[in-house]
Amino acid sequence: MHLLFPGSFDPPHLGHLDLIRRASALGPVTVAVAIHPEKSGFLPVATRVDLLRAITADLPVTVTSYTGATVHFARQIGATTLIRGLRHGQDLEAERPLAVLNRSFGIDTVFLIADPAHVHLSSSTVRAVRAAGLPLQDLLPPAVAAVC
Ligand code: ADP
Repeated sequence: MHLLFPGSFDPPHLGHLDLIRRASALGPVTVAVAIHPEKSGFLPVATRVDLLRAITADLPVTVTSYTGATVHFARQIGATTLIRGLRHGQDLEAERPLAVLNRSFGIDTVFLIADPAHVHLSSSTVRAVRAAGLPLQDLLPPAVAAVC
């Protein structure tokens, strides 16, 4: 089962890395940074891809980026299943309609429950902590903390 883990990863944090590690135990994983041309983002997409490659170097994972519909990209690379994380009920409510829609295009979604150690972690939290000048080392892999 070829898995596609799509996301913004802006920046990639320890919650993402935990999910990638767990997903890679299920099958080969492509981690793909979704490019939103209308949004500039915090880190450039190429930097996010480089960082994801660095922090997953020990895993059977391919990292890339894509534009357009996730289901199209999944088909293009031969992935049958998406990986998404669930931290709380709001994630489930946001993900459910997308998962139903993607399933109607033949792409299923596997949800992994966030590890309790990372359940409060999101990229927007990381950006807020950074903006407040607070330490990031408990939230980010060292390679990511080094550039944030
Ligand atoms: P998106 O903008 O597509 O939601 P994110 O980069 O915010 O992209 O998240 C990508 C995926 O990682 C989502 O499925 C999200 O639920 C999951 N995720 C984010 N933070 C965590 C975390 N702390 N633990 C587990 N999964 C997470």
